[in-house]
Amino acid sequence: MLKKLHRSALLIIIAFALLFVAHPRSSAYSVPVETIRIGLFYGSNELSSSNLAIRYGSGYRFGWYNSSREFVPIASTSETQITMMKDKNMYLTWSSTYTDEKPSSYAGAVGCYHILLDRLPADYTEACELASQFSGGFVGYYNGTWRVCVGSYESAAAAEDAIVERDFIGSAFSASSSCIVVVKTGTTNILFEFDCGSSSHFAVQPADVVDPDTGEVTTRAQAWCKGRSYYGGFQYTRLSGNDITVVNFVGLEDYIKGVVPYESGATWPIEALKAQALCARTYAVRNLGNHSSRGFDLCNTTDCQVYFGTNGATDVSDRAVEETAGKFVVYNGELCDTVYHSSDGGATEDSENVFYSALPYLRGVVDPYESTVNTGYSSWSYTYTADDITWILQNKGYNCAQIVSVTPTYTRMGNIYSLKFKDENGKTFTFSRSSAGSILYSSTLKKYTHSQRFTIDIANDNGIQLYVNDANNPVNSNELYAIGSSGTQAIGSAGSYYVLTGSGAEEIEVRNSGPELIADAYVVSGSGWGHNVGMSQYGALAMANLGFTCEEIIKFYFTGVSIE
Ligand SMILES: [Zn+2]
Repeated sequence: MLKKLHRSALLIIIAFALLFVAHPRSSAYSVPVETIRIGLFYGSNELSSSNLAIRYGSGYRFGWYNSSREFVPIASTSETQITMMKDKNMYLTWSSTYTDEKPSSYAGAVGCYHILLDRLPADYTEACELASQFSGGFVGYYNGTWRVCVGSYESAAAAEDAIVERDFIGSAFSASSSCIVVVKTGTTNILFEFDCGSSSHFAVQPADVVDPDTGEVTTRAQAWCKGRSYYGGFQYTRLSGNDITVVNFVGLEDYIKGVVPYESGATWPIEALKAQALCARTYAVRNLGNHSSRGFDLCNTTDCQVYFGTNGATDVSDRAVEETAGKFVVYNGELCDTVYHSSDGGATEDSENVFYSALPYLRGVVDPYESTVNTGYSSWSYTYTADDITWILQNKGYNCAQIVSVTPTYTRMGNIYSLKFKDENGKTFTFSRSSAGSILYSSTLKKYTHSQRFTIDIANDNGIQLYVNDANNPVNSNELYAIGSSGTQAIGSAGSYYVLTGSGAEEIEVRNSGPELIADAYVVSGSGWGHNVGMSQYGALAMANLGFTCEEIIKFYFTGVSIE
């Protein structure tokens, strides 16, 4: 009996041991997608036409991305330079670009009316054969059906005339406002047309170079789009029924390779770039779907993360991504909001003092490292007159009268927390957190607050307002004189002064750093560039220079995290 018990206990122990061997502690976070969707041109930057040129590869495949973000190929071309355009009348200019505004003189037109042949090809191959029999013939894929069209005309009437003239069995046709036309770049030759309404969006995948004998990929495809080179494929969507939103479908690690060199210096030491890669990857996966209303995950600007493709990558920036591949910054089993900024100017800040939520790993830290490198923003200072401040507030839409005082408050880290402005009618305007950091920023006046790390004080040369025997009428301290040990002296802005009183000379303190600053001019002095939350990129550079590893850098700026 005893023996039996022992055996079963042993079995249980073995079973547990096996469990642990068979299932090593899995990563705290599994990536939900292999392919990330990055908006390249969208919103006010949508394009009427967008070209692709092969950098490495062999032609293109046409198709769409399914809901798993996998490319579904349906057609192909061996052309290396193609332009996707909206199916509107488009004009080829003499400088080989396309425009939807008809110029007075132009090299050619891609009209949006075609002759749709009645004959129905069975498949893509048959459609290609049929199209090749006609000058100006091309294959179209419309809502799941293969068709062949001929020619391009600027009006239905012109297409109808051509039907009669060329004795075609077909009809004048123009596709819907979601149609994308592919032409050979620099020509009006249509290669393909795709219109599946909103059910699937046209996509182009540059084809890898493949060894004809082994079938192995020898060079992964990259294509140029508007002067920048990208891995992955491209989706073209006419979201508004007019211009085209261009989205790059790219592998997560390839995406990070296109972020790191632009968000940090491409030749920075590798540990700084690895820290940047960890932040960029974690931020990207945590924020997937930031722009899902536009059909992509992240945009390519500082709003999300700067992503300019492969042009700026270096061996070291690529290696930083490869050496951290699949790794994330994690707190309590969850991906961190790995925000970062250019430089902290001496101290980072608690998240709730800049943004709104308090995250346990986004705690302010005093940064002793950053000042060992040149950030370009180690100290800055601007003088604002009360008139400047009044103008800035009014220009930003606040209904204030002349501003007469400023009351700042600071965080425990010494960064700005709030600014309260009072106007001559006693009305107050208070700005807190990131708004305190940005309210005085004025491109027009060329006076800026570059970070959250600044102080505001009364500008020295203008004196301060003092109340002398009259609580209602302040006098400027520069207009007051005291008789001191060295004779009559002006009372300046701040400091100790000896004045003669009924009981002899007494020291008085003139302070300009009281809670409410009343003056005609203020000086803002600060350091750093950015929002001060999370990692300082220049601080990471400084730490890497000093020999810290990427893990030490990450753990310095993000309190209590692990890298998994
Ligand atoms: Zn964005």
